[in-house]
Amino acid sequence: MRRRTWQRAAVQDALTGRYDFVSAQTLHSQLRADGSSIGLATVYRALADLAEEGEADSLRADGESLYRACASPGHHHHLICRSCGRTVEIQADDIETWAASTAAAHGFRDPQHIVDVFGTCGPCALVGASETP
Ligand SMILES: [Zn+2]
Ligand SMILES: [Zn+2]
Ligand SMILES: [Zn+2]
Repeated sequence: MRRRTWQRAAVQDALTGRYDFVSAQTLHSQLRADGSSIGLATVYRALADLAEEGEADSLRADGESLYRACASPGHHHHLICRSCGRTVEIQADDIETWAASTAAAHGFRDPQHIVDVFGTCGPCALVGASETP
């Protein structure tokens, strides 16, 4: 039995509205700027819960956790449309290989990476094309 509090709903909404990985602090500032009275500890808690329940991707960077709304399990990448925000999940074995070997070549251990590809999706490109004279 999981409680769906307004705080959690607010955090999930704010996260879903972004396409990048974000820290609890950044999301908290955004919520406060939007007029929410939510506390930072609550944002941390909600983000951790979302990640645990598979509603968000998470990774650790610089000692803090970063999150992004995504219900797909496992490591993967996103293709994101700049116009409509449509997101396509992609597996990219060549990136995994490249990241691992590049890290190793520089003596880095425990490598992680964030690779998202932004562009204009097919339907949006068609709309754009029909609008240009
Ligand atoms: Zn994803
Ligand atoms: Zn699009
Ligand atoms: Zn990857």
